[in-house]
Amino acid sequence: MAKQIQAIRGMNDCLPADSQKWQQVERTLRELVASFGYQEIRTPIVEMTGLFKRAIGEVTDIVEKEMYTFEDRNGDSLTLRPEGTASTVRAGNEHGLLYNQEQRLWYMGPMFRHERPQKGRYRQFHQFGVEVYGLATADIDAEVLMLSAALWDQLGIRDHVRLELNTLGNADERAAYRDALVVFLEQHKETLDEDSQRRLYTNPLRVLDSKDANVQALLAGAPVLMDYLGDESKQHFNTLCELLRAAGIEFTVNTRLVRGLDYYNRTVFEWVTESLGSQGTVLAGGRYDSLVGQLGGKDTPAVGFAMGMERLVLLLDTLGKFDNLPRGVDVYLCAMGDGAQAAALQLAQELRQSVSGLKVMTHCGGGNFKKQMKRADKSGAELALILGEDELKQGLVTVKPLRGGEQRQLSRDALAMELKALVQN
Ligand code: ATP
Ligand code: MG
Repeated sequence: MAKQIQAIRGMNDCLPADSQKWQQVERTLRELVASFGYQEIRTPIVEMTGLFKRAIGEVTDIVEKEMYTFEDRNGDSLTLRPEGTASTVRAGNEHGLLYNQEQRLWYMGPMFRHERPQKGRYRQFHQFGVEVYGLATADIDAEVLMLSAALWDQLGIRDHVRLELNTLGNADERAAYRDALVVFLEQHKETLDEDSQRRLYTNPLRVLDSKDANVQALLAGAPVLMDYLGDESKQHFNTLCELLRAAGIEFTVNTRLVRGLDYYNRTVFEWVTESLGSQGTVLAGGRYDSLVGQLGGKDTPAVGFAMGMERLVLLLDTLGKFDNLPRGVDVYLCAMGDGAQAAALQLAQELRQSVSGLKVMTHCGGGNFKKQMKRADKSGAELALILGEDELKQGLVTVKPLRGGEQRQLSRDALAMELKALVQN
């Protein structure tokens, strides 16, 4: 036999047992964003490399070492999108969606980062995200956080995630803080790990989320960004905190939360779980008022988040939230005897049309009663329907419950009634 070719490391197949779980989560997400009046945007999976370099920042993990970048046949440098915000802004600018307008958008789809694959971290992964444009006040920051909290409620995991919140101030405040932080870190240079030493001059704020224990201990005495905020930034943050409290959303302020992407200002947040080990951040985002301008549009305030779908599905699975997935098949239709095959295919289609939501699988491939019943059972269906020559003559269908109950013969009308009830349960 020929040698089999394997999938690329860190890029996973989603097989039927899992795709059911994903579909359930995706359905919940779609209904949720619709209930908030958000609209979907779909952008290409590949963009010009320059878009991500400019949007995300040259000195970030993503741009420095995680992007899938290649030259296409024209010699253009293209990149598989590592996140969704840059593409959304690019598309919004290109099509005039952002110019003096308000937009509440969402997206869902695959992203690509060349990281070390491990539980909750993959090279192709999926994000669901929302992006809101044209609104500068803290109420919209509160709304996107309420949307995420509503998602946890819908999925029954509100008690398993907690919200961490911080503010980065505006560009000037951040610059002043950055200077103070560099002065402090320079005094303790020998304590810094290699990554942090490198970042000291390129992206010092990132030192704040160093995973190194010595660095973390050192940071306990470092200047705090909150102390560098002006009145407006303080007011924005305080209003957000009040709105969240009014909405009953608990949070902790984490002054070291800075996020890995360069474009954030003011509000930043993460929803974190303790149930997934070190890949505990399920959803992350914040305000990014300068990005639209930075990518060539008119300055437009913006706020959004991205959620890691794999991490969410893992969390739900860990917590047993997929134990009651809907049946893949409600009824399995068997045909006995040559004359019944055509009638069975036809009956199946009639039932699909007359009973909305009913999932009907028709037996194909022939075989005796025993074989067909085996298949019926394996399909997971609740009922087997049997159409034989006798049934055809009498205009009846035999209904055989597969999970307990009496076998009966029903007219087609009575059958349709019964199946409607089955679908509703
Ligand atoms: P991390 O600190 O875990 O690397 P990040 O800051 O790089 O996360 P973002 O760019 O903010 O993550 O992406 C938002 C969310 O997307 C993350 O919180 C996470 O849930 C998910 N995510 C990011 N990278 C991956 C990945 N390689 N595999 C799976 N999910 C990911
Ligand atoms: Mg990362």
